[in-house]
Amino acid sequence: MLNRKRFLQIASLTGVSSVFFNSLNGQKIKPMLNNPVVISTWDQGIAANKGAWEVLKNGGSALDAVEKGVMVTESEPNCCVGLQANPDRDGFVTLDASIMDHQYNCGSVGFLERIKHPISVARRVMEKTPHVMLVGQGAQQFAVAEGFPLEPEVLSGEARKAYDDWLKNSHYEPQINRENIQNKGHGPFAPAKYDDGSWNHDTIGMLAMDVKGNLSGSCTTSGMGFKIRGRLGDSPIIGAGLYVDNEVGACVATGQGEDIIRVAGSHSVVEMMRQGHNPETACRKIIERIVKIKGADAKKIQVAFIAINKQGVIGTFAIHKGFSYALKNKATEKLVNAKSIFR
Ligand code: ASP
Repeated sequence: MLNRKRFLQIASLTGVSSVFFNSLNGQKIKPMLNNPVVISTWDQGIAANKGAWEVLKNGGSALDAVEKGVMVTESEPNCCVGLQANPDRDGFVTLDASIMDHQYNCGSVGFLERIKHPISVARRVMEKTPHVMLVGQGAQQFAVAEGFPLEPEVLSGEARKAYDDWLKNSHYEPQINRENIQNKGHGPFAPAKYDDGSWNHDTIGMLAMDVKGNLSGSCTTSGMGFKIRGRLGDSPIIGAGLYVDNEVGACVATGQGEDIIRVAGSHSVVEMMRQGHNPETACRKIIERIVKIKGADAKKIQVAFIAINKQGVIGTFAIHKGFSYALKNKATEKLVNAKSIFR
């Protein structure tokens, strides 16, 4: 019979132990098994989690779950995700998405037009090409070649109205830390925040752990409403909008993409977890870093992270209050408010 000592000897020779334990800050930790969970950003996450749960509850993979989950949001009327979202300043909806599995495989699309499910194109990039990222016309061409239908180029009713309203009142507003830059020739910018206090951007970001304890993540957005044509945010950039390290944990971001990119946000949060911080502290530390970099301008932007570690512990932190994430597991389905720097 294989006793414990003998098992550990064999395991250390063969590397078998890594099937059971993962390293965190030099310590061995046990992944959470048979207790799938999904989390995702904002209120829309409740519906998206239901889509993911259909996969997870039947023992499906975290990767399938995070694709199916955010497809729900991509199909719904939404200011900031999918083809019904607000357009760029030239009146075109352009979409960004990324996906990452438990083996460092990742794929993304940016500036993708007229395709209903950018997350599925991102997955095809990951699985069917030697590349990580496709953008613009090339991404669209790839999607069509893969059988994705080209949707009509029309704005949804809500988006048309929002765009017409924006065109009426559009004014130049130097965004975030850019007072000294003259955007000659670019015309007006959209404000980062509307008069009613809501932000002009949102993203569905989702992280899941499956019955095997494997992690995956996804992220899909139309980016910032009325953005300069061609602008990419953090969401399609692996390490900024999304990062998954199955040995440690995973993180996904929402908010002002430019400031998330600056600190390689999601990757930085995962590295904090690798150093031994719990997910909430890891998120808080990177939010604090952004706030420090921005100085007084931090008040003008929103950024939030959600993270999960290999043991299934979940954490979040935001710059401003008002951010919440949706959680679903066997026991519960709820929205959780994030702690924030400014209350
Ligand atoms: N992070 C997205 C972007 O900058 C927008 C958001 O999540 O609010 O494109």
